[in-house]
Parts: sequence; C-alpha cells; structure tokens
Amino acid sequence: MASERVDLDGNLIKSITICMIGAGGFIGSHLCEKLMSETPHKVLAVDVYNDKIKHLLEPSASGELPWADRIQFHRLNIKNDSRLEGLIKMADLTINLAAICTPADYNTRPLDTIYSNFIDALPVVKYCSENSKRLIHFSTCEVYGKTIGCFLPKDSPLRQDPAYYVLSEDASPCIFGPIEKQRWSYACAKQLIERLIYAEGAENGLEFTIVRPFNWIGPRMDFIPGIDGPSEGVPRVLACFSNNLLRREPLKLVDGGQSQRTFIYIKDAIEAVLLMIENPARANGQIFNVGNPNNEVTVKQLAEMMTQVYSKVSGESSLETPTIDVSSKEFYGEGYDDSDKRIPDMTIINRQLGWNPKTSLWDLLESTLTYQHRTYAEAIKKAISKPVAS
Ligand code: NAD
Ligand code: UDP
Repeated sequence: MASERVDLDGNLIKSITICMIGAGGFIGSHLCEKLMSETPHKVLAVDVYNDKIKHLLEPSASGELPWADRIQFHRLNIKNDSRLEGLIKMADLTINLAAICTPADYNTRPLDTIYSNFIDALPVVKYCSENSKRLIHFSTCEVYGKTIGCFLPKDSPLRQDPAYYVLSEDASPCIFGPIEKQRWSYACAKQLIERLIYAEGAENGLEFTIVRPFNWIGPRMDFIPGIDGPSEGVPRVLACFSNNLLRREPLKLVDGGQSQRTFIYIKDAIEAVLLMIENPARANGQIFNVGNPNNEVTVKQLAEMMTQVYSKVSGESSLETPTIDVSSKEFYGEGYDDSDKRIPDMTIINRQLGWNPKTSLWDLLESTLTYQHRTYAEAIKKAISKPVAS
C-alpha cells in the first residue's frame, strides 16, 4: 500500500507524524479514517471526545486493527493543557480542526465562540512557529460573509454576474454585519486567526496552509438531538433536517429557506486535504476554498431533495406538509444573520493541487441519509414510544 506512493511531482511520499487537534469531530474522524486506511502516516489524535473515532482506536471482535500502532488518542482540552506543545513538537505537521462551529452558538454563546476560534488557536500557531512545524489550519467559507451582490437592488441584472457573488481567496472582500448581529462573532474570530497565521508566515517564515470549507456534509456530522446530543441542541442544517425526517416532523425553513449554499460530500473534501498534507511545496503559503460549486441549492430546495431521498432510502411516505417556515429570531434567537450565497472559486486549488469534487448532491444525500436511517431510526422509534414521565 504505502511504499510506492508518490506526490503530484512524482517524488516518493515519506511517512510523517501528524498532530491532529479536533480529531474526534466530524471532519477529523473522516481524515483519520483516510490516513489510517490509505497512507503510512501516524496520527496523534487530540480531542476532548473520541466517540466518532472509537472504531479506529479499539480492536473489533474480528481482531487487531491493522493501523493500531499508527494512531494514538490524547484526551485533552487545548484551552488549558501543557501537553499540547510536546505533542506539536513530536509531530512533523499539525492540523487544527478544534472549534465551536455550529451557527446556533454564534449569537447565543459569542464569548465561547470567539475564545474557541481565536484565543484557543493562538498557542497552536505560536508553538508551530517557534518550533518550525508546518500548520494546516481549518478556517471557514464564512470569512467571506455576505456577497457584494446582495447589496444590489433586487432587480439588478448585475446580481447574475459571477463577479458579484463568486468567492475568491485572493480577491473577495470579507463582508460582515454590524456588531449587534453576533452571528458574525465566529467569522470575525476565524478571519483574525487567518490574518495572524498569514502574518506569522510573512514575518517569521511559518509554513502554513489555510482551508476554507464550504458546507462539507456526510455521515457523523454533528448529532441528533435527544439521541446522541442534547434534546434542545441545534446542530447544522444536515442534522436538523435529518432529525425532522427521522421523527416525521416538518423541516423548519429559517426565514423561508431562501439562502443558498453549495454542499460537498465529506469524502471528496478529504481527498483535497490529503493532497495538501502530501504536497507541502504546492500547499504551503496558500489559502484554499474547498467546496463544490456545482451543488448549489436554496435551503428550501435542500429540504425538498432531502425529503425525497429520505423517502427512497427509508421506504416511508413523505409528510403532507413537509416543511414549515420559522423566523430566524424564533429559531436562533436575537442576533442571528445569514450568508446569502456561497459559490467557491476553484481556480487556486485547481492550479496548485489539480483537485475537483466529484459527488452530486443527490448521490451524497443518498449515502448520508442511508447512514442516518441505519444509525438512528431504531433509537428514535424507542425514544418516541417511551411514555413521558408524569
Ligand atoms: P466538529 O465540531 O465536528 O469538530 C471539532 C472538534 O474539535 C470536536 O470534536 C471538538 O470536541 C473538538 N474541540 C473543540 N474545542 C476543543 C478544545 N478546546 N480542545 C480539544 N478539542 C476541541 O466540527 P467539524 O465540522 O469537524 O469542523 C472542523 C473544523 O472545520 C472547524 O474548525 C470548523 O470551523 C471548520 N469548518 C467546518 C465546516 C464544515 O462544513 N463541516 C465548514 C466551515 C468550517
Ligand atoms: N437552516 C434552516 N433550518 C434548520 C437549520 C438551518 O433553514 O433547521 C438554515 C440556516 O438558517 C442557514 C442554512 O440552513 O441558512 C445552513 O445552516 P447551517 O447551520 O448548516 O450552517 P451555515 O451554512 O449557515 O454555516
């Protein structure tokens, strides 16, 4: 498997050790899986939780895991643990995924959001810079905020011109709402850590890559409220809509579901991250959009498609009223605001890594909702049938 692998320039890929912070989350779990099954690299997996990577850490009934000596879990909170610098020093590369990154938190827990996405990431950048270690840092497409086009009159033909909406790493401005719209606390914290990393590169020679994910979705994303997360918790849209479908409730469209998003299958996106890991000469100093510009829908269209796909994979009929509108204030509380449209410019990642996404929205929803149904349908049925304590 491993010995004959070459990078994009034909050089043999050497095995490295990766300190992956936030390895127990959605993206981290898929990245660990990929690294264990397809590469010879070692992973020091850092997180406060490990439920989503348990299958990679513990031998199954059928025997020892083939990668058992290549992955180690370190349960630590990077906010306050002196072991962090030692782990970064032991590794060739650090990948930082740790963050509070669910929109329901941005306006309701703005301090935690800013601390998590800026303050807690500072030591990681500092240790990488001081110890001359390479860093791949996960930012977000949300640093672009709103499109220029959304400020044009509703009937302006310029709204159809890509110059007014396509989001480019080296050209687009970052446009956030006012401070009282605390939704932007996350985007602003992510923007400042990007600027700090960029400055460390410019002034102190830090070797870095910044990733801006555009709505990566797939199995193991977030949680289903009341099953493997808090009953009152509000995850990202894929898990919210999955939860509604599993419980046979209407899907809630925030402010009518008119915002647009491009969704990419997690497995396509992980291919891009692996290329970054294994092609440092092409990835260092770069900021990469990673998304699928071909998979654009409004949130309302997403709800309709998920309803159809779920009906197909579960064999259940659709509800008579499959969606309902809710106001953002009711759903997220005071201070919510939204990104109107997110189309990634793919020029830089194409040029540097020759990468393109492959999976259509229908196909990625089919495999993801098959997983959701298989994983949660029984548990939901049990939870619903339990008599409520009087
Ligand atoms: P996730 O919440 O599933 O994973 C984050 C992980 O970080 C969690 O397992 C969490 O326990 C861990 N973590 C948080 N704070 C920590 C701390 N102080 N110490 C140790 N571990 C900590 O989220 P994800 O979707 O996997 O996102 C990973 C990164 O990608 C985040 O930085 C996020 O902002 C960014 N991102 C993701 C998307 C997406 O589409 N999934 C979009 C934009 C940005
Ligand atoms: N949304 C919705 N219903 C839900 C959850 C989310 O209409 O039950 C909307 C949300 O307002 C936003 C979009 O779906 O316009 C995507 O939300 P997500 O939480 O996935 O994160 P975002 O893309 O905004 O970062």
